[in-house]
Amino acid sequence: MEYKYKLVQLQYDKEKIEVLIARQRRSAGQVFPNQLEQEFWQQYLERARHNINQYFWSGVLVYFILTMLVIPGDYWIIQPQHFWHDFIRCLLGLLNGGLCLLTLFFFAHYKILRRYFAYAAMALVFWAILSMTWLTMTVYTEALKYQAMMIICIIYIMGYVLTGVKPFHMLLTGLMAAVMTMVMLFTFYIPIDVMVMARVLIGSVVMGFLMSKMLCTRERMIFLVMQQAKLGEKINRINSEELLHLSQHDALTKVSNRRNFDEMLNSYYEQARHDERPLSLLFIDVDFFKLFNDFYGHQKGDEVISSVAKSIKDAIRHMDFVARYGGEEFVVLLPETDAHGAYAVASNIFRAIERLSIPHEKSSVSDIITISLGFTVYKGELEISKDDLISRADQALYRAKKLGRNQIYYQTAQVSDILQGLE
Ligand code: GH3
Ligand code: MG
Ligand code: MG
Repeated sequence: MEYKYKLVQLQYDKEKIEVLIARQRRSAGQVFPNQLEQEFWQQYLERARHNINQYFWSGVLVYFILTMLVIPGDYWIIQPQHFWHDFIRCLLGLLNGGLCLLTLFFFAHYKILRRYFAYAAMALVFWAILSMTWLTMTVYTEALKYQAMMIICIIYIMGYVLTGVKPFHMLLTGLMAAVMTMVMLFTFYIPIDVMVMARVLIGSVVMGFLMSKMLCTRERMIFLVMQQAKLGEKINRINSEELLHLSQHDALTKVSNRRNFDEMLNSYYEQARHDERPLSLLFIDVDFFKLFNDFYGHQKGDEVISSVAKSIKDAIRHMDFVARYGGEEFVVLLPETDAHGAYAVASNIFRAIERLSIPHEKSSVSDIITISLGFTVYKGELEISKDDLISRADQALYRAKKLGRNQIYYQTAQVSDILQGLE
């Protein structure tokens, strides 16, 4: 019942995702319902963190190559009279950029810092814009200043694309950094074309925002398709588990069926043979059940079969196994159980059926439903096969019936052999 509820829920969820996919196709970039939206951004951020972790060493290499290209370049373009003043700022700028990337990596990598990753990313973008502007705009060499504008542009774009922070949050961060940068330039009378600088800052922020919005639209679609696949996989798994369950269990009593019994006997038998540990096998049959059916009707008969199955299941341990062998016959496997133990379990089952107190007027041994129970014990003997074991337990049941029904009969190997010899 629980799996059916789960299946219905999953199918409902999948249908919802399919509706969202159709809606995204019609008009891209639409926001999801609350929980899904949260999940989307969480996954988006998680992927960014994962990428930073994964590509850290490639990033280090790229940054190193960049540094190797920039340093000689700066060396050539810096005016000789301001060489050390400007060159040191360039070096500090490179060092600062490297440290910012390293800090971002720490927040992506260390578990303790991970939950602050988004805040750290925003703070780092803010800091990088401000500090880089300061370092690169206070140089004397005009060409360096224009180069710095490109760097600012790159910082913004990286902030949007690399960090996985929501574009709108990064837009706010970027705008704040732009305003603070302008305030700083004014306050410290840093000589720079204010209009050009403002256009670079605002242009980068807006361009980065539009770019990441476009990326997110694509990501939304990928996210939905992945959710759909995940739900489909879950539904398939539950369906195949259910099919397996149906093929192994009896529809009326919900205990295992004969096919499952054959498999279980196989493995319990092999285990007992390998470990030389006892395995008990019980055969149970309801007495005069045909008469019960004829008198009370087939439906009542079905109810009795179900009640008997439940009583047997309740009377055995977790590791024991019960199956409906056919009609009103049941088999029980008791691993690691010798004749004494098996007799105790058989008595428990016997009493449990008695306690049901189902009237049976037509029985000639009692006025309630009773059972006959035959059992045998396998002790790992090499010469006894599985079929021998079954026929021994069957013989035990036959003996219980023959001796008057409503009783337990234990069949030892010797008696079985004697009986076989007599027939
Ligand atoms: P005995 O004491 O010798 O076991 O007598 P019995 O009447 O129980 O013997 P038998 O095995 O010949 O009868 C079994 C009857 O069980 C036959 C059939 O009517 C009934 N039966 C078998 N399967 C089902 C079932 O699924 N539901 C119901 N209601 N009856 C069933
Ligand atoms: Mg019977
Ligand atoms: Mg029978």
